[in-house]
Amino acid sequence: MSRTTSISAALFLTPSDYDLYLQWQEAEGTSEEHLGYVSYAVEYHDFTIWRATGWPCLQEHSTARSKYVQGKQRVASRCLHTLHLASFIETEWCPVCEVNICLEFLEALVQAYEKVGRQMRESKLENEYEQLVRKHKAIRMGWRMARLELIEVVRYHEELATCEMEWDLHYDDLDTDDSHSSSFAVTLAVLETRHPADIVSQEELAMMHSDRTPKKKPQATKKVRFATQLETTRSPRHEDTFDRSNKQYQPGKWACPIAEGWQDTSFYMSDLHNLQQFKVFITSIEDPDDVDMSKGDEGPAGLHPFWPQIEFIWERSMKNANRAQYKQLIKKMDESEAVVAFVDNNGNVADMAFAGRPKDTEWKPEIPPPSDMAWTSLQMHL
Ligand SMILES: [Zn+2]
Ligand SMILES: [Zn+2]
Repeated sequence: MSRTTSISAALFLTPSDYDLYLQWQEAEGTSEEHLGYVSYAVEYHDFTIWRATGWPCLQEHSTARSKYVQGKQRVASRCLHTLHLASFIETEWCPVCEVNICLEFLEALVQAYEKVGRQMRESKLENEYEQLVRKHKAIRMGWRMARLELIEVVRYHEELATCEMEWDLHYDDLDTDDSHSSSFAVTLAVLETRHPADIVSQEELAMMHSDRTPKKKPQATKKVRFATQLETTRSPRHEDTFDRSNKQYQPGKWACPIAEGWQDTSFYMSDLHNLQQFKVFITSIEDPDDVDMSKGDEGPAGLHPFWPQIEFIWERSMKNANRAQYKQLIKKMDESEAVVAFVDNNGNVADMAFAGRPKDTEWKPEIPPPSDMAWTSLQMHL
């Protein structure tokens, strides 16, 4: 089964909320193809915040830096919850909020799923029934998508939880606030996930199992222990050595492999995710400045047959770039809205370039002007 990448918000929002959702998306500058759809839990979350408070979410996003407070513990930039001592990544939400955002979205889908299920059982008209079955299925697919997102978030925090244990072991005596740690977030995800089901009422259940009274399962007590091969004798690093901006920095065993030191598990700001949304132009002209882009694009890059090759080139360029080049690439990307893929004589993508709006001129979506375009990897690495 192929992976669903978005769900129509009309499937789980009331008609009036759906209208509001469209309004919010337009205010956030959502691309036309994505209007009315939800791909990530954070979109639903931001919408509900906006619906409740009227805050334009983009404002919140501009301060995506966590701050140091009270000596060593820092806070997440949006939810302001205290992060675990071991956390030295920049993050908008604490692990617990990240999980909660996924759970909220899943819960909204579960409720919609159950509502349609009830409607199906009450439906007397064949046409109506079939329509409801399709709707039911579509919501199930959306739930599956949201569930996969939660799994990715949890996987990430399971790794961080190991790192937290290392810290807890050595700073046993420190009085710290660990209520928003990755370990808590993982537990929360396990305890709170509800699966969509065709729920039967208590009475129906009693009729079906009149001979048995449900027994409460005894709660297993969980204890966390280190694997024996885990090295626990090494003393924890001094603050200077785990601060990535410091010259003394020494990456630990569990350090995030990305130079920036943080990973956006919500994918809200992920570069690769952004790149997939770019319009794609295909050319066989070697000089990027001579590319004629008036012929129209070939749709979003992520859906183009060349996407795997484009992705490969992007990742290779990012990997080979030094810090300055990396920043330059990201800047270029931020200013662009289209990607031009250069296809060689063998029909393979040999390089890519960004095209987009040059500063201070009106942007016309149909014809992206090549603003001092350059091939990404040819320019830098050949
Ligand atoms: Zn937002
Ligand atoms: Zn939080």
